Amino acid sequence: AERPYIVGNWKMNGTRAMLSEVRAIDRSSQRLMKVEVALAPPYTLIHAVHREVEQIGVGAQDCHPGVDGANTGDISASMVADAGAKFVILGHSERRENHNESSELIRAKITAAVEAGMRVILCCGESEATRDAGDAEAFVTKQIRESLPDVLDNPTDQLTVAYEPIWAIGTGRTPTLDDIAAMHSSIHSTLVDLYGEDHAAQVRILYGGSVKPDNAKELLAVDGVGGALVGGASLAAESFLGIVLAA
Ligand code: 13P
Repeated sequence: AERPYIVGNWKMNGTRAMLSEVRAIDRSSQRLMKVEVALAPPYTLIHAVHREVEQIGVGAQDCHPGVDGANTGDISASMVADAGAKFVILGHSERRENHNESSELIRAKITAAVEAGMRVILCCGESEATRDAGDAEAFVTKQIRESLPDVLDNPTDQLTVAYEPIWAIGTGRTPTLDDIAAMHSSIHSTLVDLYGEDHAAQVRILYGGSVKPDNAKELLAVDGVGGALVGGASLAAESFLGIVLAA
């Protein structure tokens, strides 16, 4: 539907020394207007990255569901927006697993992010055991239904979904192209049920999990894949731009 969307998730990586990579990514992306490019650095770099870039988007990797108050160590949606974030990645499997985040908590975070004027990239994806059991699509459907608010003012502008099978993250393994196509089609159907055909048609569904310059072209060509959420390969301008160029 729209331009392909290539997003780098830096996870717990990056210091100010990496701002030179950001500059390189931003400069090259200015010549690639047919692709929408964004980075989600750690909280500590959001403002610095925001100040560094002209073309690409900047987002956060998480936010707290609350507005403010006594939550030592937490960061609210309006705080990341104030630092320059235009979107938040929510529901990543590393947060679901390492921090026991439930879909209910993720729904509260999505509501907070949207209220702070940001877009959301909602992550979903099954474990290897779930895929082997043949339950991947049912599992992801449930995750999405439980994580998304019933009402979004404008899902077209506010929402992107990222399908990231847990067993493909950082492993060098990826699903077959047919399995990706089937999952993206299933996610699209869930979005149609939730928000209607017109809105769902505009919500991009990204693939994430071991996307590299050498597999990006075939992954991004799969029916229903609207872009990529990239971890490891987003940490260097050369590999990240290799993926952007493949889009
Ligand atoms: P990798 O690209 O390192 O597999 O990570 C994917 C991911 O989790 C992005 O959010």
